[in-house]
Amino acid sequence: MTLKKGTSCFSYEKGLVFKPLKLWLDGKGSKGLSFVSHAHTDHLGRHKKVILSEKTEPFYVFRLKRRNALPKPFRETFYLNNYKVELFPSGHVLGSSQIMIQGEKKFVYTGDFKLSKGLTSEKAEVKRCDVLAMEATYGDPNYVFPPRKEVIGEIIDYVDDCLKRNETPVIFAYSLGKGQEVMKILSSHGFDVCVHREIYQFAKIYERVGVNLGGYSVYMGEKTSGKVLVFPTSFMGERKIRGLRNYKGIVVTGWAAAPWKKEVFSGNKGFPLSDHADFYQLIKYVEEANPEKVYIVYGFKSFTNYLAELGFEAKAF
Ligand SMILES: [Zn+2]
Repeated sequence: MTLKKGTSCFSYEKGLVFKPLKLWLDGKGSKGLSFVSHAHTDHLGRHKKVILSEKTEPFYVFRLKRRNALPKPFRETFYLNNYKVELFPSGHVLGSSQIMIQGEKKFVYTGDFKLSKGLTSEKAEVKRCDVLAMEATYGDPNYVFPPRKEVIGEIIDYVDDCLKRNETPVIFAYSLGKGQEVMKILSSHGFDVCVHREIYQFAKIYERVGVNLGGYSVYMGEKTSGKVLVFPTSFMGERKIRGLRNYKGIVVTGWAAAPWKKEVFSGNKGFPLSDHADFYQLIKYVEEANPEKVYIVYGFKSFTNYLAELGFEAKAF
């Protein structure tokens, strides 16, 4: 495969790097300078300096207890050497960001993204570019998500049924992002919401920057009859949660879209509410960005075959 001149600026050395600037993109370990797309732990490292969006900074500081960030507002251009740089929303969690780097060509790295609008995150944008480095977590046709509204309706019905049977519904969700969206969904449907402390700590940051999550309490091991609990996914495999009796586990994840996976989340019920793009959203993104070269940095490597069928030159790292 021959690369067109100027398109081989990304390389993968235990992480993606934009070579002309030695700028790591969600670098791991300890690098000089890295862009941090969002504060999920698999995107964080202990770098000298990091570039991130203004709204990601408080989550980064909370997680790493480091004040070495250069926060940037969305859509404001700045320069790194002679490259014009801009951050813009990826719609994954609050503050999550993509980066565009412009020299002779336009380069975009997406980080984690979804195109459908979540209730507690910004709407993702797609920019035309020459070279695109993207995630493809669900880059397989088995992962096609129903509309979010439909999935939310199913979750609400299921939660309602649990409460009618005097069971306590416990929704397992990522502490940062999904947890807060679940809180918002439940509170806006009038449920009595009770959240684990870990999810509460991130919820406070959401509220500080103006996201209304509705009413809720923090779980202190009290009686939960009539309440809906929101717990981190790390509790998912636990047979029993201390102090809880007669509860029903619910998992919200894109993996639940695969029919054979629906009932296998450690015995919990799965719903395909995802913060990532599904197969068709990934295709749509590439068609709209219309790059001459695509790099897949995470997810199904076979996604490159689908892009090749559509006429895009694609490579998986
Ligand atoms: Zn993420």
